[in-house]
Amino acid sequence: MRRIGVLTSGGDAPGMNAAIRAVVRAGIYNNIQVMGIARGYAGLINGEIKEMDLASVGDIIHRGGTILKTARCEEFKTDAGREKALNVLEVFGIDGLVVIGGDGSFMGAQKLSHAGIKTIGIPGTIDNDLSYTDYTIGFDTAVNTVLDAVSKIRDTSTSHERISIIEVMGRHCGDIALYAGLAGGAESVLVPEEEFDIDDICKKLIQGKARRKLHHIIMLAEGTGDALELKKEIFNKTGIEARVTVLGYIQRGGSPTAFDRILASRMGARAVELLMEEKSGRVIGIKKNELIDMDIDEALSANREFHKEMYELTKILSI
Ligand code: ATP
Repeated sequence: MRRIGVLTSGGDAPGMNAAIRAVVRAGIYNNIQVMGIARGYAGLINGEIKEMDLASVGDIIHRGGTILKTARCEEFKTDAGREKALNVLEVFGIDGLVVIGGDGSFMGAQKLSHAGIKTIGIPGTIDNDLSYTDYTIGFDTAVNTVLDAVSKIRDTSTSHERISIIEVMGRHCGDIALYAGLAGGAESVLVPEEEFDIDDICKKLIQGKARRKLHHIIMLAEGTGDALELKKEIFNKTGIEARVTVLGYIQRGGSPTAFDRILASRMGARAVELLMEEKSGRVIGIKKNELIDMDIDEALSANREFHKEMYELTKILSI
C-alpha cells in the first residue's frame, strides 16, 4: 500500500477531523502517502484530491465539522458515477480508501471494495444508528450538546413552572434522546424503538402539577413523531400548555468531546493498519472499549439492539 485516500461523506459529525488527522498521521508514520478527497463521493468523481502532509491536519483535532467537507452524491449511486470514481482513483494511483460516514457511505464503500479498491469504513455520524458498533464518532458530542441545552431549558422551565418538549436528532434511532434524557433527568423519553401512551404522559404531567413539580421535560427523538402535534395532543387532553424546542443543527456542531476525539484517533489509525494488511470491505467499530472490524455487509445487516435497560431506568428515575 503506497498511496491511500480519505474522505468524509453524509452528514458531518464532530470528531471527523480527529479521524482524518489520525488517518493522515498514521499513514505518514508508516511511509504511506495520504490523499485528501474533498466533498465525499462527489469530490471523488470530480477529482478534488490533494496530498495531505503533517501540517495539513495540524490544529484540527478540537474542531467540529470536517476540513475535507462532506456531501451527499446521487451520481455515485449509479454505475456510471462509480465508474468515473474508479477512473479517478486509478489516475491518482490510490489503491486504498478510508471512508468516514454513516450507513449510506458504507454502502458506497462496499461497492468500491467489490470493484477492487481496498476500502475501510469508519463510523462518523451523530445518530449512533449503526448496530454493529457500541458508538459512532460524534454521538457523544451530540449528547453533550443536547445536555447543555436541556440544562438551560430546565432553568427557564423551572422559573416559569412550564412543560418543555425538546425534540432531538437521531432519525430512526432514539439513542441521542435516551442518553441525553437519562443524563438530563427528563421526565419522559420518547423514542422510535418503544411505543408510548400519550395518556401515561398526561397522567404524569397532571400528577406532577398536583405535587407542585416545577418543571417537566419531555425528550422527543425526531423519529418518534412531531413535537408540535404532541404539544397539541397534550393541550387537548390536559389543558396544559407545553413549550417546544427543536434543537436542530446545533447538535451537529461544536468541538468534539474527549471521548469522540479518542474514538476517532483510534479508529483512524486502525483503518490504516487494516489497509496495510491488505484488508478491504470492512468497517471499524468499538465493542466494550475494544476496536473491532467487520465485513461491511454483515455490519449493515446486523440487528440493532436498543438499550432497554437504560430506557426503563429513565422511567424509574422520573417517578
Ligand atoms: P448520515 O448517517 O449522516 O446520513 P450517511 O453516510 O448514511 O450519513 P447518506 O446520504 O445515506 O449518508 O450517504 C452518503 C452518500 O453515500 C450518498 O450521497 C451516496 O453518494 C453514497 N451512497 C449512499 N447509498 C449508496 C448506495 N446504495 N450505493 C452507492 N453509494 C451510496
